[in-house]
Amino acid sequence: MKPATHLIHSIPVDELTGAISVPIYQTSTFVQESPGIHKGFEFSRANNPTRKVLEQLICELEEGHAGFGFASGMAAIDAVLKLLKTGDEILAVQDTYGGIFQMFNHMLERFGILVKFVDTTDPNNIQAQVTDKTRIIWLETPTNPTLQISDIKSASKIAHKQDILLVVDNTLCTPLLQKPIPAGADIVIHSASKYLAGHTDVLAGLVVVNSKPLADQLRFTQNISGSILSPFEAWLTIRGMETLQLRIEKQCANAMVIAQWLTTHPAVEKVYYPGLVSHRNHHIAKKQQKQFGALVSFTLKENNIKNAIRIVNATRLFKLAESFGGVKSMLAHPATMTHRNIPEEHRKRAGLADSLIRLSIGIEDAEDLINDLKQALDKLSQPAGKQTTVLQ
Ligand SMILES: *Cc1c(COP(=O)(O)O)cnc(C)c1O
Repeated sequence: MKPATHLIHSIPVDELTGAISVPIYQTSTFVQESPGIHKGFEFSRANNPTRKVLEQLICELEEGHAGFGFASGMAAIDAVLKLLKTGDEILAVQDTYGGIFQMFNHMLERFGILVKFVDTTDPNNIQAQVTDKTRIIWLETPTNPTLQISDIKSASKIAHKQDILLVVDNTLCTPLLQKPIPAGADIVIHSASKYLAGHTDVLAGLVVVNSKPLADQLRFTQNISGSILSPFEAWLTIRGMETLQLRIEKQCANAMVIAQWLTTHPAVEKVYYPGLVSHRNHHIAKKQQKQFGALVSFTLKENNIKNAIRIVNATRLFKLAESFGGVKSMLAHPATMTHRNIPEEHRKRAGLADSLIRLSIGIEDAEDLINDLKQALDKLSQPAGKQTTVLQ
């Protein structure tokens, strides 16, 4: 089956009642006929029928061995990091998601796990930093918000020369645009709160692993640490995923048009979108991804925080909010929002300029979105005092 069909028809009809929508099994425990004799479910922390449908769906889409649902993307990441022990090292992409940066620096450090940040867009940099203590190579590709791309196949070759796990956070692409496991990743992570659920109404995290030993370890952690996805959140995610193909296609198409338009605006300095040939990793993105995704970032010629804030305060359709991936277009100013806790020198090293604005492109009409950005950007050529306040 092609992905669009798969997304609809891998979701089973309920055997008990014929319900065409997956039932929400809102139960903590399951009655047993005799000790250990049951229908495959004992307690919802270990396994729940609604969650199981989602776990199987993501596993099939990512072509993995097993899937696991967690209460959020960060809970999913936390469970994967519990594969490690004191003394282990992680080699991580340098402009990692803000929450992951905090986790790596402020939590893992206390457990004696060292994280080295490297520019993974060049596999030679990964190779140069590998030691015999390296246990995980951690990629996000594309990264957010500067949309840098790392070559998954090259990283997997380096990882598998020794006993290193390649973990890929596939949140920005979803399995419809990129499949890390067939490319050599051992573990794929999703914040399903973004494109998979797709309607900015749920927090969810998913993990897919490529082998039975990893599945056994993740199943143990999921049950014992217990930050599982609730049946209702699992149902919302499944419901969202049915329309993933349609949403992603429209969002990617809109993103390309908007990225191209931004390059023509006189107030814009630089546009970050892997679909533009001017993007520094365009050739890897073209080889590795089906389409280029729906995040677009840009910086201003007058590169300062004040100008960026004027713009994010002035858009009407683009809502000012953290997160991305929903049907509604949103924008954010990472330096004062998602990335405000990242030390300035690390932020600058990762190429995150003061004026950088990140757009999460939704499914609205592209022309309306461009007009909204235009009226906001045009304000920069007007004196600040004459601006009227725009209510959000
Ligand atoms: C949002 C996000 C996370 C964290 O997911 P939550 O669902 O917000 O906990 C992890 N990785 C990436 C790339 C993200 O965008």
